[in-house]
Amino acid sequence: MTNKRSTAPYSNALINSRFWENKSLNELTPDEWEAICDGCGKCCLHKFIEDDDVGDEITASTEPVGQDELHYSNIACYLFDDKSCSCGDYQNRSELVPDCVTLSPDNLEDVYFMPPSCSYKRLQEGRGLASWHPLLNDGKKNKMHKKGISAQGKSINEKKVNLHDFEDYIVLWPLHDAD
Ligand code: SF4
Ligand code: SF4
Repeated sequence: MTNKRSTAPYSNALINSRFWENKSLNELTPDEWEAICDGCGKCCLHKFIEDDDVGDEITASTEPVGQDELHYSNIACYLFDDKSCSCGDYQNRSELVPDCVTLSPDNLEDVYFMPPSCSYKRLQEGRGLASWHPLLNDGKKNKMHKKGISAQGKSINEKKVNLHDFEDYIVLWPLHDAD
């Protein structure tokens, strides 16, 4: 499954309000909700679960599995721009990629297939925003990239691979988090 977003608006008003320290995820306005996304792009990677040695891709209907049963690949959605680390057509993503799931307060249970560093997951687990989050860095993603948190420069477009060969593309770096 591929999903969510890779571009986020971080206005000065939102940055200065430090809303994430005083509100739960369910209390956020739509703009605040969007700004929580760090834009790491790791949710744009295909993920699989092992099932009797046959790799099944995670889909929206997949029963939640533990993080240790979930395998990340470096195969990215065809719309993911590996250089800018952003969605190539964020406005139309749902039509172009029906499998692209947008996290919302209503489907937060889907956060189980997000990587450990996912900022929604961090907040849901009470870990707070990481020091590399753009909201804590003047809206910039440089620190996140430098810490190796994002998918920038690490993925391969799904159009260039055979998804049946997913085992050749299983990687551990999406599990990396920092503070
Ligand atoms: S359409 Fe693809 S690149 Fe865009 S947000 Fe969804 S999974 Fe990521
Ligand atoms: S993994 Fe989470 S924080 Fe990172 S781009 Fe996806 S939804 Fe946003």
